[in-house]
Amino acid sequence: MEEVIKVIEEFVPKEYAAWLAFYGEPDDSIFRQKVADVMHFAAPDEDVYLGFSRPPDIGEASLLRMKETLARVVPRVLFQVKRYTHPELGELYRAYLSGKFTYSASKYSSILYLARTGSEIRIVSVDGRCISCAGRGSIGEEPCAECGATGWTHAGGRKLTTFGELMEVRKVRPPANPANLTEYESE
Ligand SMILES: [Zn+2]
Repeated sequence: MEEVIKVIEEFVPKEYAAWLAFYGEPDDSIFRQKVADVMHFAAPDEDVYLGFSRPPDIGEASLLRMKETLARVVPRVLFQVKRYTHPELGELYRAYLSGKFTYSASKYSSILYLARTGSEIRIVSVDGRCISCAGRGSIGEEPCAECGATGWTHAGGRKLTTFGELMEVRKVRPPANPANLTEYESE
């Protein structure tokens, strides 16, 4: 568990730097180097997508339009990590993080799934908060069909049909968002 938390704590500032470059760096080679530094944390065989698609010939005008977005980028917060025993991956970790913008800094926004690939612990899959139900798992009285009432949808990497048995929950920092705090305290 300590090793996984350390990996995530190394990942977060690299990802933040890459997002700052995504919205603000005119030099494409500098931007690509920052993205490579982040993708180093993704398992190479799992087709993990972390969102860094930008045209190579980004112009001044595009960067100017993204200036306000750039000002809202913040490092993500790690809330908690759950450890499972997965039938194929062995130790599987689900890390709950906030979003990359100020407005989502206190909320659950992504789950990074980490497992050991070779000698390293790497990201093998990513979930995002369900857009249809805003992560609530239900729409009115009805369970959300889009996310199977979980509040999360697959965003990239390995499609996991099971997590395996829950072995450990490590609470790192409680989310300020009241609904997420209830979820945080429930398991
Ligand atoms: Zn949903």
